[in-house]
Amino acid sequence: MPTLLSPEEIATQAGSEASPNRLPSPRVFAGRAERLRSLAPGHAMADFLAFAARLAEAQQTLLDRRGPTTPPDEAQLRRCRQHGMPPLDAHGAALPADWMAVLHDLATTVVPHAPTGLKNAIAALPDFPEERLAALARAILRGDENLSNPVELALAPLIGASLQVLWTAAALGLATTDIPTGFEGGQCPACGAPPVASIVRIGDAGHGVRYVTCSLCACEWHVTRIKCVPCQNTRGIAYQALEGASGPAHRAVRAETCPDCQASLKIVSMETDPAVDAFADDLATLSLDMLVDEAGFQRAGRNLFLFLP
Ligand code: FE
Ligand code: FE
Repeated sequence: MPTLLSPEEIATQAGSEASPNRLPSPRVFAGRAERLRSLAPGHAMADFLAFAARLAEAQQTLLDRRGPTTPPDEAQLRRCRQHGMPPLDAHGAALPADWMAVLHDLATTVVPHAPTGLKNAIAALPDFPEERLAALARAILRGDENLSNPVELALAPLIGASLQVLWTAAALGLATTDIPTGFEGGQCPACGAPPVASIVRIGDAGHGVRYVTCSLCACEWHVTRIKCVPCQNTRGIAYQALEGASGPAHRAVRAETCPDCQASLKIVSMETDPAVDAFADDLATLSLDMLVDEAGFQRAGRNLFLFLP
């Protein structure tokens, strides 16, 4: 028997329809895993993409087991909305008590599938000092990790993956209306982390609407097209794409470059390929970053499966 919605329910639903923010899909990691698997065959980084698919699959299993995290209390959420502060702030946050267990679970699941260069480091994770792992995790959350040690470099994607599980679970505990609005910049309104890339969506989210995808919690926020995400400039924005031996390669991915701040952020288009995933397609188009870098632009996106010395 149908029942009437309460005024609060009506207000919440109207709010979420009008919100410029999108919560992650509860199946976000499974979607990434599938996309990574389909991009791997024949790719120059096939082994790494196949490994990344396994890692994303393991993330989904842990996310399913964990379920949405209890959100911050209503007073805190209200303060964040009023002051435009991300309610799941990653920068100064303490690591959840069971973070280490999530990390070890991921390591155990993916170690048999790790490429040769990563296998030994991942297998030796239990012997790695916990304080150093925690320091590395906090540095990754702040975005100021300094990785020259080869073992730390090999472990960083795993640490990044564990943090994504925790922050995505936390995001799934929120309602869309809990996330502050009015952001069109380079920081996630839910957690404050930088984007991985942006995506032009089709279907339920409005045809041709562009969202920026968070590198950490997988929330998305709306940013008008033809606009530099880091600095908001709209003049002189240009697009770079990969050219293969026989015409355009990876047609659904372009780099949006800004002449003002010299930043470059990828834009992946569901209009061109409905199966794109901002995170997976970013990882599969690093050759585009190299070309854009040679042209003098700095990569503004951050991919937590990818760390360079
Ligand atoms: Fe986020
Ligand atoms: Fe800019």
